[in-house]
Amino acid sequence: MICPKCQFENPPGSGFCSRCGTQISPSTDIPYSQTETIQQPKEELTIGSTFAGRYQIIEELGRGGMGNVYKVLDKELGEKVALKLLKPEIAADHRIIERFRNEIKFARKITHKNVCRVFDLSKAERTPYITMEYVSGEDLKSTLRRVGPLSEGKAIYIAKQVCEGLIEAHKLGVVHRDLKPQNIMIDKKGYPHIMDFGIARSMKGEGITTSGMMIGTPEYMAPEQVEGKEADQRTDIYAMGVVLYEMVTGTTPFKGDTALSVAIKHTREKPRNPREINDQISVELSRLILKCLEKDKDKRYQSVLELLDVLNRIAEGFPTTDKVLPDKPSTSRALSGKPGLKKIFIPVIAVTALIIAAVLAWRFTPLPEIFGISPSPPEAPSIEDHLNSANQLWKEKEYSKAYDQFKKARDLDPKNFDAQFGLANSLKAQDKLDESIPEYEKAIAIDEKDHRAYGQLGLIYEQKQEWSKALDYYKKYLNTAPQGQDFALVSQKVINIQDQMQPVSAKPEPRPASAEEPKAAQPSKKAPSKKVEAEPVKPEGKRPEKKKPEEKKPDISVKLNEGVNALSRGDFDECIKLMEEVLRLDPGNSSAQFFLAEAKKKKEENRKEQQVKDGLNQAQESFDQGKYQECIDQAKRVLSLDPENAQARRLITQARIRLAPQQAKLLVEQYIQSLNTKNLLRFYERACSPEVYQRLKNQAQAIMATYPNLQATASDINIQFKGVDRAEISFSHIITGTSKDGIRESLFEGIINWGLTREDDAWKITSINAVPKGKK
Ligand code: ADP
Ligand code: MG
Repeated sequence: MICPKCQFENPPGSGFCSRCGTQISPSTDIPYSQTETIQQPKEELTIGSTFAGRYQIIEELGRGGMGNVYKVLDKELGEKVALKLLKPEIAADHRIIERFRNEIKFARKITHKNVCRVFDLSKAERTPYITMEYVSGEDLKSTLRRVGPLSEGKAIYIAKQVCEGLIEAHKLGVVHRDLKPQNIMIDKKGYPHIMDFGIARSMKGEGITTSGMMIGTPEYMAPEQVEGKEADQRTDIYAMGVVLYEMVTGTTPFKGDTALSVAIKHTREKPRNPREINDQISVELSRLILKCLEKDKDKRYQSVLELLDVLNRIAEGFPTTDKVLPDKPSTSRALSGKPGLKKIFIPVIAVTALIIAAVLAWRFTPLPEIFGISPSPPEAPSIEDHLNSANQLWKEKEYSKAYDQFKKARDLDPKNFDAQFGLANSLKAQDKLDESIPEYEKAIAIDEKDHRAYGQLGLIYEQKQEWSKALDYYKKYLNTAPQGQDFALVSQKVINIQDQMQPVSAKPEPRPASAEEPKAAQPSKKAPSKKVEAEPVKPEGKRPEKKKPEEKKPDISVKLNEGVNALSRGDFDECIKLMEEVLRLDPGNSSAQFFLAEAKKKKEENRKEQQVKDGLNQAQESFDQGKYQECIDQAKRVLSLDPENAQARRLITQARIRLAPQQAKLLVEQYIQSLNTKNLLRFYERACSPEVYQRLKNQAQAIMATYPNLQATASDINIQFKGVDRAEISFSHIITGTSKDGIRESLFEGIINWGLTREDDAWKITSINAVPKGKK
């Protein structure tokens, strides 16, 4: 049933529109079914107009294969979302819409920072549409067009995050099937978001493919797709290979005059080695890309996890051309060259330490720099403009000019993390370490959950050989950073520093050289600060050391290492087990204590995160099944775990909106019943705000006392919503009363208007206005 007011399509038999609450009686349905034939599905929306009685069109974001995409303001929720209209050709095929609905149901379960969230598939004004998270930024295709090929580091940086989003989706059994740069939005911070999950599958089917509508760009199609065979996660891996290919070479592997010729090349032709096009990229990366592009699924990486692992390994050994910190091998040698350690430990550390210096320097490069872009609208000079030029200057290694631009951006918005962090980085790049420290601290004050500033401060204090401060910041880094390779590297640093800082008496061997080495490498100017931070590298600290059972040390080191690796893989139980074993061997081991606590904390966080995800899925499912109250209860449980969860809030609001008309209608019914059963007073007390109740109490009491018998009816109930938490109900109302002497009189005939305000999940009557018949 189409709502006469907002054109929302309600299930048959609805009494009220579930979107705007307008009454839909069978009689109103008839004129509308007449207009139906005239109304065409919409292909375009006008800026400033409101669609579906709810979405105010702000701007057009793009035109895709399926229809136009708009940035809109959801007036009900007061937030910006993206709205995609489906083209009439697609909309006409109800099978596609049905498949769509199914696919979106699964896609909606993917909760991941690198996946754009889909909210709803619905229909209004005869036009099906999808709403989804609005990502402010630029799609990767446009970026590549604008800036040309990316450096290897930047490409890997993006690819890694896209992989993380894919991993989450594949875990839930959702294959993308249409991964391409157009479907990867890069937000203002430089983080990628994968769009259009699962949508490609719904489009498969006769009519669509033959019209050539969907196969506009076959550049990213895996051979099995071209051949119409079943797609699986390795199909996305193939597409990932094409995207990587394009990121580093600026072109896709196969070109042709027609869509068909390109498609066929995917099944037959060998791709050109990307290194032939761009000799700057590493052998490892080109090998990885070609492996993704294998025609035979079995020869590709078999899971994105595997692919990500290799990407990580390439990133580890990535050359240090982009780095912020001039490489000071002395620092890492100071950490690694500890003669007190048993042989088995040394190689691990030595290798890791070398990698650490390289990778950290690269990884801690400010994000916009790694990414090299910061999309901005063409309007008046804004923060983004300043950030843009700052990033450009940074790329040109003009650090002091970059500083000026970052500072301008920061002064425009002192709460902008990127500006503050960039400013600090440009000081550090100019070797103004002491000046950069307070600026990094300001960045931390803006966002204490962002790990990057901690990492930089760790590096700075390490360079200054202020070990306990370095340790402190590295620990904070570990507290906030995501699991993964960098996590393992910083963990190693923590172990090394902590090991150095342990009181000499606890050491298995004297350590004469270790004290000298960092000193020799970082000469005299560091001496004063070292006095303060003396413990770890006290040269004169050759106290008489207590001999410990030395055979145990290598065992401890190995276990510590394995434990840290387990932690960075996310295997918390294994880490806990190993750290506990270390503590049994060496109860005072501070590294083990730290990592044990860390593993326990992360395990708990993980458990909670899972509960939140499960709760959200349940709530979403209840919503889809029309069980709105259940949905609200489940979403509230999610909020008790994660009070800021936007998805849970959104579901509650949506469910309340759906529930509202029923609830309001029920309220009128209860009112009529309370009159007929002479429980009016109790109804008013429960349903009205205290003020309204006080005002009506005496009147109600008087009527009850005068008329032992009351008969009441309500008709033409009409509900109008004034936002999410306010509404107005009006209805035609007749009350007749029979007095004690048996005389029947008309007590009221006219219109009642109630003003309603929502309190939690119930409506309260906050104003009453009665208009007797004949009056206006
Ligand atoms: P395609 O078929 O090329 O994937 P889409 O219809 O998905 O096209 O989107 C067209 C364009 O609209 C995209 O390239 C992107 O620039 C923009 N766009 C789509 N979805 C969103 C969104 N959720 N947030 C911001 N921009 C979007
Ligand atoms: Mg798209």
